Amino acid sequence: MHCPFCGTHETKVVDSRLVAEGQQIRRRRECISCHERFTTYETAELLMPRVIKTDGSRQPFDEEKLRAGIQRALEKRPVSIEEIEACITRIKQRLRATGERELPSREVGEAVMAELRKLDQVAYVRFASVYRSFQDINEFREEIERLSGAEHD
Ligand SMILES: [Zn+2]
Repeated sequence: MHCPFCGTHETKVVDSRLVAEGQQIRRRRECISCHERFTTYETAELLMPRVIKTDGSRQPFDEEKLRAGIQRALEKRPVSIEEIEACITRIKQRLRATGERELPSREVGEAVMAELRKLDQVAYVRFASVYRSFQDINEFREEIERLSGAEHD
C-alpha cells in the first residue's frame, strides 16, 4: 500500500501479529523511500444485519457508533483498547449468528449489554442506564439491586 507520509507506492511489512482474539491482523509497515513507519489493521469484512429503528426505518449497522457508545460507557475504567475491540468483535459475531438480514435496534442493544456485562459491570450499568432510559425503569432498578447484591457475596 502507498505510504501515507510521502505517497511512495512501495512499503514493506516489518512486523505482523494477530490481535482481537485472532479476528484482526496488525501490521507495522515501513516506507521504502522516507522510512516512516505506520500501522494497518486487517479485518475480514462480513455483512452485518441492518438495524430496524423503533420508528420502523432501516439503517446500516454503524460500528463507529457502537464503538463510541462502548468507549463512553468505559470511560476511566481499567479496560484496554484490545479488550474493547475483542468485545466489539463478539457483539458483531453475536448479531451475525442470528442469521437475520435485519434486526430490531433493541436486539442490538441487548447484545451490547450482554457483552459489556462480561467485560465490566460499571460500564454495563452506565450503558444500560442510557440505553434503556425510562422504557423499563423497574427492570433496570432490579438489575442494579441484583448487581450490588452480587458484590457482597
Ligand atoms: Zn514514505
